[in-house]
Amino acid sequence: MFNIIVLGPPGCGKGTQSNNITKKYGLTHISTGEILREEIELHTHIGRIVKTYIDKGSLVPDDIMMQKVFVSAVNLENSNGLLFDGFPRTILQAEYLDDILRIYDKKISLVFHLNVEENELYNRILHRSIDSKRSDDQLEIAKNRLKVYYKNTFPLIDYYLKQKKLKTISGMAEISEVFGKISSVIDDKINKTEK
Ligand code: ATP
Ligand code: MG
Repeated sequence: MFNIIVLGPPGCGKGTQSNNITKKYGLTHISTGEILREEIELHTHIGRIVKTYIDKGSLVPDDIMMQKVFVSAVNLENSNGLLFDGFPRTILQAEYLDDILRIYDKKISLVFHLNVEENELYNRILHRSIDSKRSDDQLEIAKNRLKVYYKNTFPLIDYYLKQKKLKTISGMAEISEVFGKISSVIDDKINKTEK
């Protein structure tokens, strides 16, 4: 069982790299952004609530997020491991994740932090907005998402640095090059734990 977190600012490539990682290593992908967008698409009660936050580029409240993640994580006893994409985004969510994993006698093995320059983030988000039809892929909303990232999510870097789990990878290179670096860190970690 190998559990990974991918963290980084909006547009850094979390979704893309998480897809590559889960395919290669047979992990179960838990993307909180996707889970929330599905709720909105299905017009559920939760969907209506979370839409008001997402449309502004704010974070969805911790209690809603923790409930959603708990439901996805408990059903996965038989997986090779879990990959969390877009979760945790606050210290409270990180502490909560550590707690639930501990209950199941599991833990996070690695945390990837994808680092991308601000201008490049906006370029990517605006480029993506042509097809994504995401209400939050607009310049003004993206600016707020980045502000929220620095305020609430950036402190997680220190949190996982202290746990000696953090690997910062430049997300400025091509997709395959970034993935190559991520893979070699995972392979190293797997080799070390097998010894
Ligand atoms: P990418 O790096 O792939 O571009 P992203 O950071 O732009 O991803 P998502 O992870 O898809 O976007 O999240 C979209 C929105 O969903 C967030 O701006 C936030 O409103 C909400 N959201 C997703 N995950 C969480 C979370 N863990 N806590 C609070 N809100 C969340
Ligand atoms: Mg995403």
